[in-house]
Amino acid sequence: MALTALDTTADETLVCCQCERSFTFSVQEKKVHARRGYSNKPKRCPTCRENRRNGTQSKPMSESEILLETCKAIGELRVFMERKMASIEQRLDSIEEALRGE
Ligand SMILES: [Zn+2]
Repeated sequence: MALTALDTTADETLVCCQCERSFTFSVQEKKVHARRGYSNKPKRCPTCRENRRNGTQSKPMSESEILLETCKAIGELRVFMERKMASIEQRLDSIEEALRGE
């Protein structure tokens, strides 16, 4: 298996192995890549590479994690709605009182 040198004459669209988004491996980047002695194509998009470098790897959420996040959001929403309802009821009560007081 021969190592194929990078084709530095045209941009290439690659798919990131991490976020599965497509990104452009430009001629400019290829030249930098080749100068550093790399002959393989990058596996990750610039964003994921940056994240990896910063150590903040954002791995896709698993189904149970998504479920957990959704449950949390629903719980928060319920608390919010209950508070809203309570304040509306309070306001209705005070309006009623005011009407009765007239
Ligand atoms: Zn990516």
